[in-house]
Amino acid sequence: MVKIAVVGGGWSGCAAALAAAKAGAEVILFERTDMLLGTGLVGGIFRNNGRYTAAEESIVLGANELFELMDTYSRHRGVDFPGHRHASLYDVTRIEAGVRALLARYGITVKLRTRIRDIEKYGGEIRAVIDDEGVVYPCDAYVDASGTAGPMGNCLRYGNGCAMCIMRCPSFGPRVSMAERANVVERNSEKADGSFGAMSGSCKIKKDSLSPDVCEELERVGILVIPLPPAVRQQAKLGKKACSQYALNAFADNLVVLDTGHAKIMTPYMDIKLLRQIEGFEKARYEDPYAGGYGNSIRYIGIASCGDDMRAEGVQNLFCAGEKSAPIVGHTEAIVTGSLAGHNAVRCVLDMTYLVLPATLAVGDFISFAHRRMEEEGGMKMRYTFSGSVYFERMKQKGLYTTDASAICKRVEESGLSQIFARCLV
Ligand SMILES: Cc1cc2nc3c(=O)[nH]c(=O)nc-3n(C[C@H](O)[C@H](O)[C@H](O)COP(=O)(O)OP(=O)(O)OC[C@H]3O[C@@H](n4cnc5c(N)ncnc54)[C@H](O)[C@@H]3O)c2cc1C
Repeated sequence: MVKIAVVGGGWSGCAAALAAAKAGAEVILFERTDMLLGTGLVGGIFRNNGRYTAAEESIVLGANELFELMDTYSRHRGVDFPGHRHASLYDVTRIEAGVRALLARYGITVKLRTRIRDIEKYGGEIRAVIDDEGVVYPCDAYVDASGTAGPMGNCLRYGNGCAMCIMRCPSFGPRVSMAERANVVERNSEKADGSFGAMSGSCKIKKDSLSPDVCEELERVGILVIPLPPAVRQQAKLGKKACSQYALNAFADNLVVLDTGHAKIMTPYMDIKLLRQIEGFEKARYEDPYAGGYGNSIRYIGIASCGDDMRAEGVQNLFCAGEKSAPIVGHTEAIVTGSLAGHNAVRCVLDMTYLVLPATLAVGDFISFAHRRMEEEGGMKMRYTFSGSVYFERMKQKGLYTTDASAICKRVEESGLSQIFARCLV
C-alpha cells in the first residue's frame, strides 16, 4: 500500500489528502489545531472573478468534492462587490464539520491536535515525520501544506503583535515547516515598503453586535458597501494587505461587508472607536481576530522552492501545497495546488511521470506563472490569485477567464486530462 502523509489541514492539505486517497493511497493528515481548514475557517469568498473558472476546471479534472461542498455550504451566490463578480460566500461557521465528514468517507485518517515538529531524512528522502509527543510516522511520500500564517514571533516582528487569530499559536504551538526541516530553500514575501510578510486583509465582526436593520440587510443581499467618513478612510493600509486583489481604492473609501456567517469586513484592522462611528456598527465587536481593532495575522513567511509538479527542490519525496508552495492567496488556489501535490505524491511512490497541468488551462498557467514571477525582481512583493491583480489580468488577456461551463469542459477534454484526479493509480 502506498502511504502518504499530509502535514497541515488547511484547504490545501485537505485537497492533497483527498487527491492522494483517490489515487489509491492510504493517507494520514496531521493538523496541529483542533479543527481543519486553517485560515479557511475565517475566509469564505470563492468563485469570484477567475476563481470561478479555476473551480470549474478543477471539477472537470476530477478534483470536485471540495468545491461542491463549498457550493453546498454557500450562504450567497452570484454576489458582485467592488472589482469582483459572481462571488459565492460559504458559511464559515458550519463548513468545517462537512469537510471532516467528507475526508472520513474517503478513509483518510485525520490526526487533529497533532503537530509535526520534525522529520527523519536519509539522503535526499524523508523517511518519517515526528510529532510533538515523539511518535514517529514512516510513510512513502509527504506533502507540506503547513501554510505561512504565524507563528506569533512573525506577527510581533513584522506586524502589530499577536492579534489572537484563528491560528491560535499560544494554544497549539507554532507552525512548523517540513520543507524547512528538510533544508529546502524558503523565501519570504515582502510588503510594498520592503519589510517581510503581509497582513491578512479582513476581519470578522459578530453579526449580533450590528444594528438589527444592518444585519438584516446584510443577510438579505450578502454584501454591503458603506461609504466611510473621511476620518476613517484607510488608504495607508492598502500596501500592507496580503490580498492584492482587494488593494483597490474602493476598499479604502468604503467599508465592504460580506455575510460569511460573520460580518466579514474587508480591511486588515480598524480601530474599534472608528468602526463604531459607522451607522449600524455603534456596538460592533470583533470575532476574528480578537484584536482586529489593532492588527491581524502576518502570512507569507517561509515559502518553499518547488517546481510546477509541486515537488520541493532537493527532496525526492516531498511535495508542497497552498501558500507553502508560492505567494498565492485563496482557498481555490490552495485546493488547486493541493490536489496536484497529493496526486503527484502518489505518482512519486509508483515511480510514474509527474503530472504538470498545461498552460492551456487556467490552473496550469497559474501555477507556472506564480512560480516564474516569484523568482523575478519584485515578484515576492506580489500575491497571485485567480481573483484579481496581475494574474487575473493575464487570465483575461490569454482568454482563459470564462464562466461558460461547456467551454471549460471542452478545454479540459482537449487537454486529455478529464477526471485525471479521480483515477486510481495503484
Ligand atoms: C483572515 C483571512 C481571511 C481570508 N479570506 C479568504 C477568502 O474569503 N477567500 C479566499 O479564497 N481566501 C481567503 N483567505 C486566504 C486563504 O484562507 C488562504 O490563502 C488559503 O486557505 C491557504 O490555505 P493553506 O492550506 O495553504 O494554508 P493554511 O490555511 O494556513 O493551513 C495550514 C494548516 O497547517 C497547520 N499546520 C502548520 N504547521 C503544522 C505542523 N507542523 N503540523 C500540523 N499542522 C500544521 C495549521 O494549523 C493550518 O491549519 C483568507 C485568509 C485569512 C487569514
